[in-house]
Amino acid sequence: MNTPQEKPTANRRIVDSSEPAQSSNRQEVDWRDFRDHIATADQDGRRRWLYPKAPSGAWHRRRAGFAAFLLILMFAGPWIRIQGNPLLLFNVVERRFSILGQIFWPQDSAVFAVAMLVFISGIVVFTVAFGRLWCGWACPQTVMMEMVFRKVEYLIDGDSAAQRALAAAPWTVSKTARRLFKHAVFFGLSFLVGNTLLAYIIGSEQLLAVQFDDPRRHWVGLTFMTLFSLLFYGIFARFREQACTFICPYGRFQSALLDENSLVVAYDRRRGEKRAPLHRGQGAQSRLAAGLGDCVECRQCVTVCPTGIDIRDGTQMECVNCTACIDACDSIMHKVGRPTGLIRFASQNNLERGEPQRFTRRMAMYSVVLAALIGVFLWLVLSRSPVETTFLRVSGTLHQTLPDGRIRNLFSVKMINKSHDPLPIEVRLENLPGTVRLMGSTHPVVPVGEYLQTSALVDLDPTQLTGSTTELKLGVYSQGQLLERVVTQFSGPRSQSPKPTP
Ligand code: SF4
Ligand code: SF4
Repeated sequence: MNTPQEKPTANRRIVDSSEPAQSSNRQEVDWRDFRDHIATADQDGRRRWLYPKAPSGAWHRRRAGFAAFLLILMFAGPWIRIQGNPLLLFNVVERRFSILGQIFWPQDSAVFAVAMLVFISGIVVFTVAFGRLWCGWACPQTVMMEMVFRKVEYLIDGDSAAQRALAAAPWTVSKTARRLFKHAVFFGLSFLVGNTLLAYIIGSEQLLAVQFDDPRRHWVGLTFMTLFSLLFYGIFARFREQACTFICPYGRFQSALLDENSLVVAYDRRRGEKRAPLHRGQGAQSRLAAGLGDCVECRQCVTVCPTGIDIRDGTQMECVNCTACIDACDSIMHKVGRPTGLIRFASQNNLERGEPQRFTRRMAMYSVVLAALIGVFLWLVLSRSPVETTFLRVSGTLHQTLPDGRIRNLFSVKMINKSHDPLPIEVRLENLPGTVRLMGSTHPVVPVGEYLQTSALVDLDPTQLTGSTTELKLGVYSQGQLLERVVTQFSGPRSQSPKPTP
C-alpha cells in the first residue's frame, strides 16, 4: 500500500492541520486521497481550524446583495403583518401557523402534508438542476455564518493571515481583550438570532412579553431564549462549517441527486491540468508547449474556501457552491492574462465533453411532479373554507323526547375562524325541516384566528327520522353567505318506524 511518503511530491499539497492556537503544524496530504479525509480534520482526527481568506469579486457582490435581502426578510419576518397576521409563524406551542399572513391550524394537515411534499420535491428538482445553490446562497446557516459572523471576524481579527498570526500568538492582554470583544459581539448576534427564532415560534407579541414582563411569569420563554442564544453561539463561534459537513442531511443525499448535467461549481480539469506555478516571463504558448495547463497552482481557490476543500479534486460533499473559489480564480486568471472561468458553474458534461447545459428528461419529470404538487397545494389553500366546523353528538347522551313529541339531540360544536375578520355564525338544517339552536349567545361570533366551542340543540319531528340514526346536513352561514357544509348523525328512538327515503 502506498504511504504519503512514497507518493510523488507533485501530487501533494500542504494543509494546515492546526487547532486555532497551533496553526504552525502542517502536514502533507496526497490530493488523490481527498475522499479518505475530511478537510476539517487532520490525520489524527483533530479539528483543523479554517481561516478562509475574505472573498471578493463579482459573484461575492451578487451573493452579498442577495444575503442582505434574505437577512432583512429573516429578521423582519416575525414583525411583518399581512391583514393583521404574521408573515410567518410556526407556533407549535399553540399549534397555530401563519404563512404569508394565512392562518393555518393543525386541522389543515392536508395543506401541511402537500406543502412538505412541495418543499422536498422542490429541493430535489433544484438540486438536480443547480446542485447545492441553496446551501451557499439561501441556507440561513451559511448566510449567517459567511455574511454576518465571518464579516465581523474579518473586522475584528483581520483577514486570513492576521487571524492565523493572532491564533498562534501568545496570550497577551491585547489578544485576550480582542478575543473577549469578538466573542461578546458573537454572543450578542447569537442572542439576536435566538430571539428571532423564538419570535417565529411564539409570535412577536409573546416575545416582547417575555423580554419586558415580570421574568417570573415567563421562565419557560426565558429558558428557551437562553438555550437558543447559546446554541447559535456554539454553532457560529465554534461549530461553523461542521454543521454543513456533519449535521445537515442535504449534503449527504445530494450525491444521489446530482447527475452529469447538474450545474455545480467545478474546476475545468481539461483546461487547468497539468497545473504548475507560473514562472517569470512564462507565456501561455510556452506553458502549452511544456504540456502545462492554466492552473498556476496559486491555491487561492483553496484559501478562500469556507469549508476548506480543494475544488480541483472534483465535486465534493463539503462544497456549498458559495462561488468564492470562482471569484478567487477569476482574479488570478485576470492577472496572468488567461480567460476567466477555469472554475465556474458548469455540468460534468459541459466540462468533459463541451456539451451545452441541457434540460434533461429527469429534470422535466421532476418538474412535472413539482408543478402538479404546487397545483394541489394552491387548490387546497385557495379552496379552503374560512371556517372549519366539527359538529358531533355529545358522546354518552341519548335523544330526548320533548312534550310536543319532537326528538332532541345535544351536539358539541367547535368552529375555527381561519379568515381575517370576525365571523357572525348561523347554522341551518339543509336536508330536513327542524331547528338548530347554538347555546350561549343568540348571535355567536367566532373571533379571528380563534375557536368557538359551544353546544347545539337540534330538534326534529319524529316523522323526519329514517331509523335509529338519521343523517343531518347542516350549512354554516355568515351574514347569509354559506361558508361550509357539515354532515352529522341524529339519534332517534329504536322503535321509530323508518320514514321511507324518497
Ligand atoms: S485559483 Fe485557479 S489558478 Fe489558482 S490554484 Fe485554484 S484553480 Fe489553479
Ligand atoms: S469549493 Fe468553492 S464553491 Fe465550494 S465551498 Fe469551497 S469556495 Fe465555495
